[in-house]
Amino acid sequence: MKTMTIKNKMDEDEKQLKKVFRDRCLTLAKRTPLQKEDIESIWEKVTTSYVKGFFCEYCGEFLSIQTGNKNVFSFDHRNGDWSEFKIDEISIVCLGCNLFKRNICEKNFKALISLFTKTGSMGLYDEMKEEIIDGIEKGKQRAKANGIACHSPRKDIDLNMVKEQYGTGIPLNAIAKNLEVSYSTLRNRLHEANIRVEFCMEKDGIIISE
Ligand SMILES: [Zn+2]
Repeated sequence: MKTMTIKNKMDEDEKQLKKVFRDRCLTLAKRTPLQKEDIESIWEKVTTSYVKGFFCEYCGEFLSIQTGNKNVFSFDHRNGDWSEFKIDEISIVCLGCNLFKRNICEKNFKALISLFTKTGSMGLYDEMKEEIIDGIEKGKQRAKANGIACHSPRKDIDLNMVKEQYGTGIPLNAIAKNLEVSYSTLRNRLHEANIRVEFCMEKDGIIISE
């Protein structure tokens, strides 16, 4: 029988933390172009929060590293305005709070949460968070069942051209911008064509390989 040592457990956790972090960075890259320094700076924020106990900056709940958990960590922009993106404005919060907050600024959102706290209704807040997450998931399934695609029509992308440009040192997010597609779309297409693209913390930002 295999026993899980503490070291194994820590290695597993770190792997999982990195996996969710990478997914979150890809989501973030849809909203704003990310430079290598940005990714490193956010990673530092995540690890600092992790060693301090990993709590949601809005509701104070313990953050999870498991996808599918309503308290899985995610990144929010404090002032709610992504057009004025600043790394310092990134907060590490539970998915439920993130979806609940939408574009409200941090100050107003915290005031809203404190209302729940003052009236002893935090349980109600948790229920509402769960309902939002469930609602989004059910909406997606309903759309799928009715043959409705939750994305815009597929755009033709010349992957050879992308590889060429990337080879000359143009970052993928800049190539995506030129092609007028999101970074994640470009990444998905490369993935479909078996061109491996991944965040590699050890090897400076994003690497591409076949
Ligand atoms: Zn929260």
